[in-house]
Amino acid sequence: MRICVGHITACCDQCGCEDFQPAPGETTPAQELVCFGCGLRAARCALLMQIADATVRRAEAFLDSSRRQRKAPPR
Ligand SMILES: [Zn+2]
Repeated sequence: MRICVGHITACCDQCGCEDFQPAPGETTPAQELVCFGCGLRAARCALLMQIADATVRRAEAFLDSSRRQRKAPPR
């Protein structure tokens, strides 16, 4: 399973894998997930925070680039 919000998918801190499975013994929806690639455990809320951070970074990058374009001298 993938943890995604909009177009952004959370990935494993350790190996970058985007597929997770619920940790053993977790009920649905699982609050703790295990990376499919390396087996690292990750809390669902931590993955959602990672997506929130990525969303903010993308928004900042977009603002930066539009600011830079505005500052650029006209050709
Ligand atoms: Zn992993």
